Amino acid sequence: MQGKTGYSVAIDGPAGAGKSTIAKKIAKMKGYIYVDTGAMYRAMAVYLLRNGVAPEDTNRISEICEAADISIAYRDGEQVVLLDGENVNAFLRTEEAGNMASFSSAVPAVREKLVELQRKLAAKADVVMDGRDIGTVVLPDADVKIYLTASSATRAKRRYLELREKGEEAELARIEQDIVDRDERDMHREHSPLRQAADAILLDSSDMTIDEVVERIAELCR
Ligand code: C5P
Repeated sequence: MQGKTGYSVAIDGPAGAGKSTIAKKIAKMKGYIYVDTGAMYRAMAVYLLRNGVAPEDTNRISEICEAADISIAYRDGEQVVLLDGENVNAFLRTEEAGNMASFSSAVPAVREKLVELQRKLAAKADVVMDGRDIGTVVLPDADVKIYLTASSATRAKRRYLELREKGEEAELARIEQDIVDRDERDMHREHSPLRQAADAILLDSSDMTIDEVVERIAELCR
């Protein structure tokens, strides 16, 4: 189980709800460490892609995930994910890694390995951790639990603007479809599906600014 020592804030919710932006701001404001668990699933995805594994090949994923050496470091306050000692942050936010992560994260062996790493981090420090199963599975005793959501149209629009700002090609309808598909897989998988913990506070950010959400969560923290 958790072996809880630090203060913990769990933020769960679907893709594109603004979890990481908000979690980072809370962490900075309160002096907690930000743990991005999606980045760990994405690093595992990079490992699997590099090994030529297909997203649907559950058996192969179970077999080789144990050999992936994933660890976390902090440089200038930013979380760095190390895969076999290599900083893979630059490879995590691609569509390919995101899609692979959405499949491979349903494999129990992958979850067991990464949940153990997440609990170790939370046992060492005060954390804001975001993901899909933090309040339900990883840190069931978290001090503050938030379920952050927004309509799929709002989430797609935000992703679209983010990509356009970076000068990347983007098509709104395809982004929204991707988000809907990813939600569907995350919410309906057998192991640790995305759902609101019974004791989590629901925040819908569709009509809230980032600062309003941050302020609301900060009030709930000690
Ligand atoms: O949050 P992010 O989009 O980076 O997560 C990538 C994928 O990793 C998600 O679609 C989800 O399938 C998986 N994930 C998970 N559990 C977490 C965090 C992420 O299953 N705690």
